[in-house]
Amino acid sequence: MHSKKVTKIGVLTSGGDSPGMNACIRAVVRTGLYHKLEVFGIVRGYSGMIDDDIQSMNSRSVANIIQRGGTILKTARSKEFLTHEGRRKAYDNLKKRGIDGLVIIGGDGSFRGAQVFSNEFDIPCIGVPGTIDKDIAGSDFTIGFDTAVNTAVQAIDKIRDTADAHDRLFIIEVMGRDAGYIALHSGISTGAEHILIPERRTDIEALLRSLQEKEKRQKLVNLVVVAEGDDFGGGNEVSRIIKERLPNVDIRVAILGHIQRGGSPTCLDRVLASRMGYSAVEALIEGRHNVMVGIVNNRMHYTPLDKAVKATQKISEEWMKIVKILAS
Ligand code: ADP
Repeated sequence: MHSKKVTKIGVLTSGGDSPGMNACIRAVVRTGLYHKLEVFGIVRGYSGMIDDDIQSMNSRSVANIIQRGGTILKTARSKEFLTHEGRRKAYDNLKKRGIDGLVIIGGDGSFRGAQVFSNEFDIPCIGVPGTIDKDIAGSDFTIGFDTAVNTAVQAIDKIRDTADAHDRLFIIEVMGRDAGYIALHSGISTGAEHILIPERRTDIEALLRSLQEKEKRQKLVNLVVVAEGDDFGGGNEVSRIIKERLPNVDIRVAILGHIQRGGSPTCLDRVLASRMGYSAVEALIEGRHNVMVGIVNNRMHYTPLDKAVKATQKISEEWMKIVKILAS
C-alpha cells in the first residue's frame, strides 16, 4: 500500500488499441471526479507524457464516448520511454501539474513500462487490461476481446454464405499473434471445421487428410479459422500448402485484419470497461500501487503488475475435442 493520498490522477491508453478503451476512460474520469480528484488525460500514451500532451478532463470531456471504438486519448508506442531520460521527462511533466497517480489502459508491454516508471519515480500506477487478445494473466477477460470476437463471428457468418453457394473451402485468418482465443471462440461459434492456433502445433498432414476425407463424403463447404500467429504461418501459408497438395479443391482466403480492432464495443466490453475503470480509481484511493485490475470469477481482482504478463494459457484437449466433434 502507498502512504500518500492521491489528489490528481492521469489516465492514458497505451500500446495496441482495443474497443472499449473509451468506456474505460469515461469511467476513470467520472469516478475520479466523484471522489473530488483532478483528472488529466494523457494523449498518445507514454509519448504524450514525454511530450507534455496532457489535458485537464471534466465530465463533459467524456460525454458520448461509451459507444465509440478506438480511444479519444489516442495510443502509441514510445521508444523514448524505454530510456531513463525519457521517463525522467515524463515524470517532470507529471510533477509540474502535481499528478500523483496513473491509470494505464493497455497490454502487458504497457504494464512493464508502468512498473519500471513507478519504481524509479514513486508514482502509483494501476493497470487495466485493454487488449483484444485476452491473454493477460490475472483477468478472465480483457477490454476489447468480446467486441473483436463478435466482429470476427459476423464476418465469418457472411463468408459461410458465399462458401456455401459455391461449395468452397475458405481459410479465414483472424487476429492473435500469440494467443488463439479469437480463433477458438469465433471458430466454435461459426461451426468452423478446423481451428489452427498458436498454442498448439499445427498438424498440416492431419488437416489435409481430413479435407480429403470430407471431399470423399461430399462435405464440400469447409471453413478453416487460422490465428495469424499459428505456427504454420497464417492463412496464406495454409492455403498455399492445401492448393499444392489438393489441387482440385476450390479454395479462397480471407484475412479479416484490422476490422477486428474497430467498431462499437459490445455490452460486455462496455460493462467490463466501466467496472475496471471504476475499480482502478478506487484502488488508487485505497493506496494500492502497481497492480492490475482484473476480473476473476466475476469479481474484481488485483494482480501485481509484474505478474500481469502475457499468459500463454494451455488450451485444453477438451476444447479441441469439442471443435472436432461438432464440426463432423
Ligand atoms: P502493449 O501494452 O499493447 O503490450 P507494447 O508492448 O508496445 O504494447 O508496450 C507499450 C509501450 O510501453 C512501449 O512502447 C514502451 O513505451 C512501454 N514499455 C514497454 N516495455 C517497457 C519497459 N521494459 N520499460 C519501459 N517502458 C516499456
